Amino acid sequence: MEPCAYTAKVMRILIRGVAVIPRPETGVIPKADVVIEGRRFAAVAVGEEVSGPFDRIVEGEGKLLIPGLVNAHTHLAMTLFRGLAQDRPLMDWLEKEVWPREKRLTGEIVHWFSLLGLVEMIRAGTTAFADMYFFMEEVAEAVEKAGVRALLSYGIIAPTPERIEPELKKAEAFAREWEGKAEGRIRTALSPHAPYTCGPEVWKKAVGLAKELRIPIHTHLAETKEEVERFQAQTGRSPVEWLEELGVFGVPTLAAHGVHLSEKDIEILAAHGVHVAHCPTSNLKLACGIAPVVEMLKGGVNVCLGTDGAGSAGDLNMVEEMRLAALLAKVKTGDPQALSAPEALGLATWRGAVALGWGKDLGTIEPGRRADGVMIRLDQAHLFPDHDLLANLVYAAKGSEVDSVFVDGRFLLLAGELQTLDEEEVLARCRELAKKFR
Ligand SMILES: [Zn+2]
Repeated sequence: MEPCAYTAKVMRILIRGVAVIPRPETGVIPKADVVIEGRRFAAVAVGEEVSGPFDRIVEGEGKLLIPGLVNAHTHLAMTLFRGLAQDRPLMDWLEKEVWPREKRLTGEIVHWFSLLGLVEMIRAGTTAFADMYFFMEEVAEAVEKAGVRALLSYGIIAPTPERIEPELKKAEAFAREWEGKAEGRIRTALSPHAPYTCGPEVWKKAVGLAKELRIPIHTHLAETKEEVERFQAQTGRSPVEWLEELGVFGVPTLAAHGVHLSEKDIEILAAHGVHVAHCPTSNLKLACGIAPVVEMLKGGVNVCLGTDGAGSAGDLNMVEEMRLAALLAKVKTGDPQALSAPEALGLATWRGAVALGWGKDLGTIEPGRRADGVMIRLDQAHLFPDHDLLANLVYAAKGSEVDSVFVDGRFLLLAGELQTLDEEEVLARCRELAKKFR
């Protein structure tokens, strides 16, 4: 058993009489006692006494405990751009609105808007996420402070040859510095931003470096039709085929979007074990299209869920993404049985954990697993009655019912109160800093 880093002794916590979804396919246990010892779950007891003593007892009656939600693709600090220059096509929005403003970013701005994103994410049940951006040291410090878990990487954008080395150096320095930090809650990746912003040399060097550091690659892939068509015209290959040829998929890869994929692309992604982060809200809002989630899952691709940044998606709410993923899969296939509620929850939990490299440790509520969980208040009109709480979670919950959130057995939100972040201070600082970016 590991000592609890926060108290130097092993904390024993009992969550008493709570409804639990230990993993999506097992469905709901209506009443259980869940024991956390140190950083891990120790027991999920049904109809049997659990023996104390406990350092803390949390009453679970009227609540539903689920595994922590994993946001597999976001850019936290882009909360700065929420609501700014909306309703535009992706490239127009990036080139005219975002990229010029990103040149004026500072570490301070990234720090506070990352904290803003963390307040929002914790309040809606996210316990782990993957983020690529700039000033990543500031994001990492925010993650450390908040107590969440993250796969972090510096976003490499190198459209010209002279940018390649400095960008790679920054990415490498960050990855070396922060890998395994925050008591193992932070892991790092390398992130050439996308096939259309980084040439072959960047990709090849990033792959070599990722192998040397034994870390994954996190990138954007096949997000828009134009991107894929341009690649076909210029290289005679799809972006997926192009990356495969460069040997990128020889490294564990997390690719966001995957909206425009051929059957062959899906075969390639499956063959190399590439994880795809489906970002439904962002894809809809930018009119990118609907990713072939069902086809990918059938083809053996591990699909997980992400929000993308709040600038393109509006918010960072994984409960909403889960619902949207299920609805879109049905309308795309014409089959109401496609992406069932348990499957949608799987995308948001264990599949995300696998994609971030924590598959053995996270994603379910079972003895021995890391104690990352979310408790949802069930005393809400829109969650009544309780015929099937899992279906209610996917089709009716909003995220605002999240009552408590814990990571490694440490509460980050308890009975609606943030435990690690000062929300008032975060909002006040962000309000001031945002004024310069209108
Ligand atoms: Zn993105």
